[in-house]
Amino acid sequence: MQELTLKWTESDLERIETIREQQPSKHPGTVRLGRDPTTCDIIFKDQTVSRLHVEIFYDRRRGSFCLRNLKPDNPPMVDEQIVGSGEVTLSSGNIIHLGQIEIKVIAPVTPTILHPPQPRTPRQPPVQQNIESTILRPPQRPSGPTPPSPLPVLSPNTYALQCPNQQCKNPDARRIVPYEYLGQTCPWCGTDLANAGSILLPRGSS
Ligand SMILES: [Zn+2]
Repeated sequence: MQELTLKWTESDLERIETIREQQPSKHPGTVRLGRDPTTCDIIFKDQTVSRLHVEIFYDRRRGSFCLRNLKPDNPPMVDEQIVGSGEVTLSSGNIIHLGQIEIKVIAPVTPTILHPPQPRTPRQPPVQQNIESTILRPPQRPSGPTPPSPLPVLSPNTYALQCPNQQCKNPDARRIVPYEYLGQTCPWCGTDLANAGSILLPRGSS
């Protein structure tokens, strides 16, 4: 639930109004401010405020409350900036001027936190620091399935990749890398497997 609290003083009286995202109002979707009680939801008595002055609404797209001017010949100001046409977003600390009334925006506007689906990042074996220690055992990846150790576990009659690096430390003479490494790097030598050839493992050669 998004909220915006307005605080101001009028005729020596402190007033506080909280506007909510789904606030019931006379003009659904917006909360109107002005002197006219028949059209406005937040009513002012001060004669410098127009009968229908501004409206405040929650903009889901922007994830914030916005103020729109409804009185071109008596434009409001937000932080000393005249709001002629269009809308401005409101956030905590803003000062709105309607005529001579100074309204403080005091409630923090909680930004809408979007959680887009995390793109799957390809698993990359870490860059080898010590070649000698990784001859028999490929480096451990920080997450994901355990890398083949010491040899790729492959069922017969399946396709596998063949590391293009002739100097690969893969203990298997054919430099076989499990097919799951396609598009990644060789767990033994770090060579890019994007262009690795595939090799059909004959039956019984696991
Ligand atoms: Zn390799």
